[in-house]
Amino acid sequence: MVTMEKIVSLCKRRGFIFPCSEIYGGFANAYDYGPYGVELKNNIKKLWWEKFVHQRQDIIGIDGSILLHPKLWEASGHLTGFNDAMVDCKECKKRFRADHLVKKIAGEDMEGELEEMTKILREKKVRCPDCGASDWTEAKNFNMMFQTEMNGIEDKVYLRPETAGAIFINFKNIIDSMRVKIPFGIAQIGKAFRNEIIAGNFIFRTREFEQMEIEYFINPEAKWESLFDEWLNLQEEFIMEIGAKKENLRKREHPKEKLSHYSKKTVDIEYKYPFGFEELFGLAHRGDFDLSQHSKYSNEKLEYFDAENNKKFTPHVLEPTFGVDRALLVALLSAYNEEEIKGEKRIVLKFPKEIAPIQIAVFPLLRNKPELVKKAKEVYEQLKPEFICEFDDNGNIGKRYRRQDEIGTLMCLTIDFDSLENDDLTVRDRDTMKQERVKIKELIEYLRNKLS
Ligand code: ATP
Repeated sequence: MVTMEKIVSLCKRRGFIFPCSEIYGGFANAYDYGPYGVELKNNIKKLWWEKFVHQRQDIIGIDGSILLHPKLWEASGHLTGFNDAMVDCKECKKRFRADHLVKKIAGEDMEGELEEMTKILREKKVRCPDCGASDWTEAKNFNMMFQTEMNGIEDKVYLRPETAGAIFINFKNIIDSMRVKIPFGIAQIGKAFRNEIIAGNFIFRTREFEQMEIEYFINPEAKWESLFDEWLNLQEEFIMEIGAKKENLRKREHPKEKLSHYSKKTVDIEYKYPFGFEELFGLAHRGDFDLSQHSKYSNEKLEYFDAENNKKFTPHVLEPTFGVDRALLVALLSAYNEEEIKGEKRIVLKFPKEIAPIQIAVFPLLRNKPELVKKAKEVYEQLKPEFICEFDDNGNIGKRYRRQDEIGTLMCLTIDFDSLENDDLTVRDRDTMKQERVKIKELIEYLRNKLS
């Protein structure tokens, strides 16, 4: 069974993910992506963009700003409503999410119900996870937006807590510049910042993270239920394309009475992480709340003109949201395998080929034989323009295989003495470990077939 400790340690050891600001003792439960981490992340984002933007006629992309007009957050309700409930342990002074502590006892979400949460914490004598005491302050709301200041701007400026805002405020630009026909979507990938009360569980909850979001605009009179189900299926399909197994996924619909007043339906797609089922992606029907609010606060009409029916209306919106870092964590957890080979443990990341950080590694059998090194380098140079390759002549061949398995490299190519005579090499498959001899002049075609 894969544990978070194993994933965290592999990520550091093999250059996927490092603790942020480590030489200064670490910082804020944050992480930096290393050379393989950034490749993996880029591949996940590329796959998403392909699936939801390039492969669809009805969705277009934007890349909006992180710092946005302060009024936006008034209109969207974030200024007053983007809160988490916090509570402090009076004994050790540590701060916690009140709703998370209560959820462990009451088993349900209690967003916003501060008094009730305080009552449960005190009456059920919930213990502090840190020091074990049971002496809580009252639960209070804590706004999660990061504030900053900007030259020439009097109002407080915020780092966006989600990417969606930049999409809504570009609705008019898209309508005016593109020939979109309802239903249509606007997609965006980018950073979001939330001053989480407690970050943790590795990259599952950090204060700086990335989202991939779509606002899918529909006619208010359209049958939204089937579209909603379609989006849920697409979200599941996407996470399965990057390796998740269906049995580790479940959908959790938010109870009607807990929905925001404008939402017709909200469903979380949850994944079974080593620390339990938690949110991976979300899907919400947000009605016309966002466009109406931005229209009210900006005095701009944010409407769609339906030329066929000669009708103007404010579209409703379905919002599928995908966390990049959580998707990447799921990709790592799903890929992780430990196998026993001839009495030895092999750790291998079996990423789907579309997201493996490195596709091909090229080795000379021995590093101290210049003729082998020269030929291996020639092969590497030949493949580099088309494939994501790595050249490796460190340590013995066994060690090189072990390292490439641990980063999930799909194929290892070895140049040996026979290669010099026959102009061929050995191709070793990551998953089956089977080896095959391939002629170098047929190599590119062979790899294209295997990797496409
Ligand atoms: P949670 O309940 O776990 O705090 P949320 O309901 O606040 O999440 P949303 O506002 O729906 O999350 O955000 C959309 C997506 O962004 C989530 O499904 C998740 O994948 C990702 N996400 C949200 N907060 C974080 C975070 N602090 N760190 C990493 N990813 C996050």
